[in-house]
Amino acid sequence: MSGTDAPGQTPPDVDRVAAARAAVAARRARAAVKADVAAGVRTPLEVAQAAWTPLPVDTADADPASAERSMRVRDLLTSIQGIGPARAEIVMGSLRIAPSKRLGGLGVRQRGELADWFVARSSRSRGSSKLVVLAGPTAVGKGTVSAYIREHHPEVLLSVSATTRAPRPGEIDGVHYYFVDDAEFDRMVADHEMLEWAVVHNSYRYGTPRPPIDAALDDGKKVMLEIDLQGARQVRTAMPEAVLVFLLPPTWEELVRRLIGRGTEEAAEQQRRLDTAKVELAAQDEFDVRIVNSDVSTAAQEVVDLFLAR
Ligand code: 5GP
Repeated sequence: MSGTDAPGQTPPDVDRVAAARAAVAARRARAAVKADVAAGVRTPLEVAQAAWTPLPVDTADADPASAERSMRVRDLLTSIQGIGPARAEIVMGSLRIAPSKRLGGLGVRQRGELADWFVARSSRSRGSSKLVVLAGPTAVGKGTVSAYIREHHPEVLLSVSATTRAPRPGEIDGVHYYFVDDAEFDRMVADHEMLEWAVVHNSYRYGTPRPPIDAALDDGKKVMLEIDLQGARQVRTAMPEAVLVFLLPPTWEELVRRLIGRGTEEAAEQQRRLDTAKVELAAQDEFDVRIVNSDVSTAAQEVVDLFLAR
C-alpha cells in the first residue's frame, strides 16, 4: 500500500496492478505448499493446522499462514500422493465440505473431521508400508498383473483371498485362494475375519482375510489386494489410506477377446461377466489411479511404483 501517490495519477490502476501481483504471489505460495505436500516435506495435517492457527493479533503483521488459509480443501487433497480429483470429491462429500471451500473457511466440525481423516489415512502408512488395491473389470488381466508382481517383486505381499468357488485346474489352496465351503465363509464373516467380502458375478463369495493384512502393515510391509469393485469400495471405507487402482483394457474389444480367449467360462458365464464388466468400467472415476493394461510388465511396474511414491 502506498501513501505517496501524486495528484493526477490513477490509484485504481496502481491498486489493480498491486492486486494482480499479490494474487500471483499468493498462487505461487499455495503451489509451493502443494509441492511440499506432494513431496512429503509437509503432511496435509500440518498444512491444515497452519491454516487454522489464529490470525496474528497485530493486523499490521503479514499473515504467515495466508497460503494455507486461502488454499482450497480440494487442492490440498489432490496434492496428496494417490488422491485424484474424483477421490477428493468423494472424501469432501463424506466430510460434508462444499467443493469450493478453502481451509480457512471451514467450520469447527469440518476442521475436526478433516483432521481425523488425515490421521486415519496416515496412521497405518508408517515407514514405507502401504496398501494398494488392484481392481478392474473381469478379464482385464488383474490376475496376470498380480502374478507378475508376485514373481518380480517379492517385497510386495499379495493377499490370498478366501472363496467359495471350486479350484480351477492348477490352482493351489493357500496360494491362489483359500478354497472354503459356505459354512467356513459364514464363520469368517461372523468372526469379523474379513476386511471386505462380496458376491462376485452373482455366484460365489470372495473375501480378504484381515489378520494377515494387519500383521504385514504393522511390520511395515507393502501389501496388495486384487479384488472386485465392491470389495475395493469397502476397503476405501475401512482403510482410507489405501490407494485404489483401476486396471483398464486398451479397448472394449480387447476385453471381450481376452475373456473369450481365456476359455475358462461357459457362454452363459461369459455373458454374465461381460455384463458385470460394463457396470464396473463405469465406476473407474471413483479410483485414485487408472492404469491401462496394454503390456503386463509395464502395467505391473506402474502399480509397484505407487508403493515407492512417498
Ligand atoms: P476368479 O474367480 O476369476 O478367480 O475371480 C473372480 C473375481 O473375484 C475377480 O474379479 C477377482 O478380482 C475377484 N476377487 C478375488 N478375490 C477377491 C476378494 O477377496 N474380494 C473381492 N471382493 N473380490 C475378489
